[in-house]
Amino acid sequence: MRCALYYSNKDIKIIEKNVPKITDGEVLMRVEASGICGSDVIEWYRRDKVPLVLGHEVTGVITGVGKNVKGYKVGDRICAAHHVPCNTCKYCLSGHQTVCETLRTTNFDPGGFSEFLRLPEINVKNGVYLLPDSVSFEKGTFVEPLACVVRGQRLAGVKPADTVVVIGSGLAGLLHINLLRATGASRIIATDINGKRLEYAKKFGADYVFNAGDKNIDLPEAVKEINDGFLADIVILSTGADNAIVQGLKSVRRGGTVLFFGAADEGAKLPLSINEIFWRTEVTLLSSYAGSILDHRAALELIRSKRINVKDMITNRLPLKDIARGFELTAKAQDSLKVIINPND
Ligand SMILES: [Zn+2]
Ligand SMILES: [Zn+2]
Repeated sequence: MRCALYYSNKDIKIIEKNVPKITDGEVLMRVEASGICGSDVIEWYRRDKVPLVLGHEVTGVITGVGKNVKGYKVGDRICAAHHVPCNTCKYCLSGHQTVCETLRTTNFDPGGFSEFLRLPEINVKNGVYLLPDSVSFEKGTFVEPLACVVRGQRLAGVKPADTVVVIGSGLAGLLHINLLRATGASRIIATDINGKRLEYAKKFGADYVFNAGDKNIDLPEAVKEINDGFLADIVILSTGADNAIVQGLKSVRRGGTVLFFGAADEGAKLPLSINEIFWRTEVTLLSSYAGSILDHRAALELIRSKRINVKDMITNRLPLKDIARGFELTAKAQDSLKVIINPND
């Protein structure tokens, strides 16, 4: 089988590998669609682990099941999670399944940008979701990224009628905006430095958009003007740029919440004083990482019910041999949103 071996965003080689062999508790899947994630192109995060086969937003068909596998059969259409929790450790039992030590060490083999994948036993148990007939393979690749977004908003406690600012309107930011629209936030304010992305932000549900590159815009003041004199109930940081993060921190109301979603730029720091952020503010700074089983199930249901318009977020479809182009588009982060690779094309 063919798979894509990643060295850097500009160096990806298509190699031949044997189709993995499965044992009694394992499943073999043929990958039908595999999304490129924003985290796939963070070079500093991958630097010490390369070369490796990336790809963790996958859907496909089961082509082999071990004799002890229950609940799945050859021909099933599935979505599979790469990292899965143990469900028994201190982290899992306290509701933080996504920081579980097991979750950090589990993975499918060799990675989503491959014709076939072996799902180890624990992945089969805690990370396989049957795709309803109405959910295409392409749409199913959004289960993982949307699960991360669902989790972030769940932990942040977003409520109907909240005013929410989303800083950064890349793919993750747009999923946040679309979910806010679906779950009833009353004022959705989005920023980005790219005009095209601000158009997307409007399309997917933002009520107000601001170009963060425009020096004449004072975001906290703009939020107050929109929100009856108040800053935002919730700010979602969906960008790594530190000046954008400062703008976000200054845009939350007293008693509000700032969600740190995703990785910041390498070495990014908070140049604000602790007193400025916390003293007499009761502001909560919160982070979320990845998605739990509950979040994956919710994401799949939001996609099935079409509450989230993932279809229109797909801008590029490429065969495996053109994956380098897909990484280039995702790393540039200009007009493209989600790039889907079809490893069997
Ligand atoms: Zn991802
Ligand atoms: Zn655990």
